[in-house]
Amino acid sequence: MKIGLIGGTGLYDLFHLLTEQCIETEYGQVPLLKGEYEGKKVYFLPRHGTVHGVLAPYVNYKANLMALKKAGVDQIIAVSAVGSVNPDIPISGLTLPDQLVDFTRRRENTYGKFSADMTLPFCPDLQQAVRSAAQENGQKLYENTTLICVDGPIYETRNELQLFSSWGMDIVGMTNATEAALARELGICFSVVTLSTDLATGFASIPPDLATHKKVAAENKEKVKALVEKALSLLPKQKSCQCAKSYNDYMFLKK
Ligand SMILES: [Zn+2]
Repeated sequence: MKIGLIGGTGLYDLFHLLTEQCIETEYGQVPLLKGEYEGKKVYFLPRHGTVHGVLAPYVNYKANLMALKKAGVDQIIAVSAVGSVNPDIPISGLTLPDQLVDFTRRRENTYGKFSADMTLPFCPDLQQAVRSAAQENGQKLYENTTLICVDGPIYETRNELQLFSSWGMDIVGMTNATEAALARELGICFSVVTLSTDLATGFASIPPDLATHKKVAAENKEKVKALVEKALSLLPKQKSCQCAKSYNDYMFLKK
């Protein structure tokens, strides 16, 4: 099995002998960083580029996911910074969402070949590995939560946030719904762990800003790394999920 990690630069030093490999796709060229962890091949994809330059709406998601597919990756753990609209999830809280609502309106989230089943958007096998990792590490993980994905890069208005909260949303992000949909279309298992870097409740006295976001991300780097590292070591050898079913059915019918 080959594992993909999507996230910020804080995860680089998980691996030994990280080498860059450029993958050509029909959607563009993607540099991946290849390494090993406990004998498993790991491909690291810096979501926003290596210098955190590309904002969420302009990320080339279709190229990114296709590059991981071409590299042979069949399981992806993504890490994202989000805002909390559930006041129970504090700044620095780690969340394992099990549902998502795609509220993006200006980006493509499909390769347009067939209709993939997204009833359960995240891989249960990967989620179990993350859950067990948090337990073994003694880390608090917020579960049974829903992530709402917006276009960004602009932050939400107070009324938008109150609306999301009234809908029962827990966290707001800008990338994961797109990644989850494209991964599902390619038959790749996908799960996300989020770090809340601001309280996007619309009631918070401190408005969200990039400096705070970066500060919280930096302060929690080791915590996130410890969780991902442990989850990698707990991944099951045999899959029991149905993440690849739509893709396999499509490939079978195409023959
Ligand atoms: Zn799966």
